[in-house]
Amino acid sequence: MITSLDIHRINRWVSSLALGLLLSQAALVVRAQPAAQSSEDPFATPDWVAPVAPWPAVSENVSQAISKILASPGVQKAMNFLKEDDPQTLKETVFLSEIPAPAFNEEKKAKAYMELLKKTGLTDVRMDKEGNVIAVRKGSGQGPTVVIDAHIDTVFPLGTDIKVKVKDGIYYGPGITDDTRGMAAMLSMIRALNANKIQTVGDIIFLASVGEEGLGNLRGVRAFFAENKNIDAAIIVESFPIGAAGIVSTASNRYEVTYEGPGGHSYAAFGQVPSAIHAMGRAIAKISDLDVPKSPRTTYNVGIVKGGRSINTISPDAMMEVDIRSDGTKELADVTKQILAIIQQSVEEENKRLGSQSLKASIKLVGERAGGTTPPDSVIVQSFLGATRANNEKEMVMIGASTNAGIPISLGIPTLIIGSGGRYAGFHALTEALDPTNAFKGAQIDLTMLLSLVGVEGVSAPLIAAKSLAK
Ligand SMILES: [Zn+2]
Repeated sequence: MITSLDIHRINRWVSSLALGLLLSQAALVVRAQPAAQSSEDPFATPDWVAPVAPWPAVSENVSQAISKILASPGVQKAMNFLKEDDPQTLKETVFLSEIPAPAFNEEKKAKAYMELLKKTGLTDVRMDKEGNVIAVRKGSGQGPTVVIDAHIDTVFPLGTDIKVKVKDGIYYGPGITDDTRGMAAMLSMIRALNANKIQTVGDIIFLASVGEEGLGNLRGVRAFFAENKNIDAAIIVESFPIGAAGIVSTASNRYEVTYEGPGGHSYAAFGQVPSAIHAMGRAIAKISDLDVPKSPRTTYNVGIVKGGRSINTISPDAMMEVDIRSDGTKELADVTKQILAIIQQSVEEENKRLGSQSLKASIKLVGERAGGTTPPDSVIVQSFLGATRANNEKEMVMIGASTNAGIPISLGIPTLIIGSGGRYAGFHALTEALDPTNAFKGAQIDLTMLLSLVGVEGVSAPLIAAKSLAK
C-alpha cells in the first residue's frame, strides 16, 4: 500500500533523481562558461544550463525553410496572435493548474482540457483508453505526422493546496510550470493557426498525456506510441528555460536479484552446501569489473545488498538491487545482458564447486525506463536551433532528463524536449512558480519549429520525411 506520505517521499526522490540526471547530462556538454546569474534569483537560468557556443551549424535547407515560414504573412499574423493571446493563455494556465491531477488521477483535468481544445475549433478531439487527450489538426495530405506533447499529471497528491497565488506578477502554484504551462501554450498555438487559417502539409497531433511523473512510469506516451505507429517526429514540451533543448533521455533497467539455497552450519556443513552470499559475492565482483562505454554514458551499480542469518550460518539467502543506465538503447541492452549472464554464471559456479544443484537465483525487473539520444545534427535539433535564432533568443546546452521523450527516442523517432515560455522556479516543490513575462516568446519558437517540421502549404515543404510515404 502506498500512502500519500510515501508518494510525497517518492516524488521528492524522483525529483532529486531528475535533477541529478540533468546535472550529470549537463556536465557532459557544458563548456567552461560561468553562469552569469545571481544565486538569489530563484528564476535564474540554472547554472547547469550555461549557454554553449557554438551549437551545431544550421544547414542551408533548414534556415531557408524557417526564413520562408517567418516571412509568410499568415505566419507573421500567427506570431502576433500568440503575443496578443498571452493573457488568455495565462488565464488557462491558472485554470488548469488548479485542477488536481496526480498520476492516475488525471481525468478531471483531462476533461477540462478537452473542452478548451474543442473551443479552439478543433473537431477531432478524443480521449484514448489510457486517459490521454488527443487532438488532431489535419494537414493537406502527403506530409509527415508530428506529435507535440505536454503532460497532464503533476507530482502533487490529492489534497495538496494547489490554488494559484499571485504576488508581484509571479504565479505560485504546484504544477503550474510542470507541465500546465505547456498544455496552455499548445491551446494558444492551435488558436493562432486556426485564426490565421494556416494550412500545414503534415498532420499535427496535440497530445496531453497521463502518467509522466513518478509511478506513472510514462504510461500515457507508452500507450500512445504503441497505438500510433505513424509518428514521424515528437516534440516534448516541459518546464525548460527558453532556448534550452534536451536530446538525451537516460534509459534504465533495475533488478532485484534473490539467491536462495539450503543453508547450513558454517562448520558442520562446510564443503557440502552452496552459499547464497558467496554466490552473490562472485556476481558482484564480476559486475564491478565490467567495462562500459563512456559515450553514450552507460553505468551500473549494485546499490543494496541484504542477506544472511548469523556469522556461523552458510547463508540460505541473499538479495541485491542492481541499477543499470545508459543514454543509448543498444548499450543499455548489452550491459543488461552481460549482468544477467553474470548472475546466472555465479549460481552455476557456486553449485559446481559444492557439487550441488540446490542454489537458485531469481531476477525481478523492478524498474524500466526507455530512452536514448537524438543525434545533435538531426533535422529536429536543427529546426529548433533555427527557430530559436530566428526569434532572437539564445540557445542553451542540450540537456537531458527523464521525461516522456524516452519512449519516442527509444523507438528511433526524432524527438526533442523544449520549453514553452516563461521563467520557472521550484518545479516539483510546493513553491513552484511561473514568471509569465513574455511567455509568448516560447510559444513563438515552438510554433516556428513545429511549422518547419510539418511544412506550410504554398510556403515551405516539410523538413521531416513522412514514414508512410517512404515505401
Ligand atoms: Zn514534467
